[in-house]
Amino acid sequence: MSGHLVILSAPSGGGKTTIARRLERTRGDVGFSVSATTRPPRENERDGVDYYFFTRDEFRRRRDAGEFLEWAEYAGHLYGTLRAEIDRYLAQDRHVLLDIEVQGAAQVRRHRPEALAIFVVPPSAAALLERLTGRQTEASGEVVRRVAQADRELEAAGEYDVVVVNDELDRAVRAVSRVIDGAQGVALTPTEAAPLVAEIRHGLRTWLDQHEQDRQQQREDTE
Ligand code: ADP
Ligand code: 5GP
Repeated sequence: MSGHLVILSAPSGGGKTTIARRLERTRGDVGFSVSATTRPPRENERDGVDYYFFTRDEFRRRRDAGEFLEWAEYAGHLYGTLRAEIDRYLAQDRHVLLDIEVQGAAQVRRHRPEALAIFVVPPSAAALLERLTGRQTEASGEVVRRVAQADRELEAAGEYDVVVVNDELDRAVRAVSRVIDGAQGVALTPTEAAPLVAEIRHGLRTWLDQHEQDRQQQREDTE
């Protein structure tokens, strides 16, 4: 058996990291590609486990030395997949999961067309908003930025091989696991998922409009 390169993308808060980590824990034949980033660590994150935390200079130096399979800027920070990280797993005939955003995913697919690309979506806009705010890892301005970003990211769902709805976590993990094993019909095609994706995007835009109106109102009240 040889390992697949498996791309897992989702709008921020969609659950891709949770799913990827769960698979890594439960399947010995699956490894998680630890990315490099210039974003500061969150409270519970460890260098070399969650990310390799680089300064911008170090990131650029490694990028210029060709160490990244792909890299992208997201919410003001640089993120990239180290070639060494994925080669290590593929050399052991293990599948390797890339928890990456949509621009990086497109680059991987250009270089490695055999990669399997899975897009994870929440069951609704309300669930996504609850998970994004419930994680409490971002300040409120950052949450707004990520909601706007999530709306744009959902636009890319149509470019993926399959779409998995992350409603009940165990079920979503099982579906991703079976897709990796080549099972058919356990996830949605992008066409089947299109109405749900459109509904979520509509919900996110309504939330963003409401947020903007509230801010406007607050500004008027303080004047
Ligand atoms: P992402 O990596 O896509 O940004 P995370 O994996 O960090 O998303 O998940 C965002 C939050 O949602 C986390 O607090 C996680 O525990 C929670 N979460 C993930 N999947 C589910 C689910 N199916 N049901 C409820 N909460 C979930
Ligand atoms: P976070 O800051 O929430 O950990 O991640 C922000 C976004 O960056 C997520 O969409 C995540 O999937 C993405 N990301 C993490 N690592 C990489 C990477 O190596 N390359 C790219 N292109 N995106 C990444």
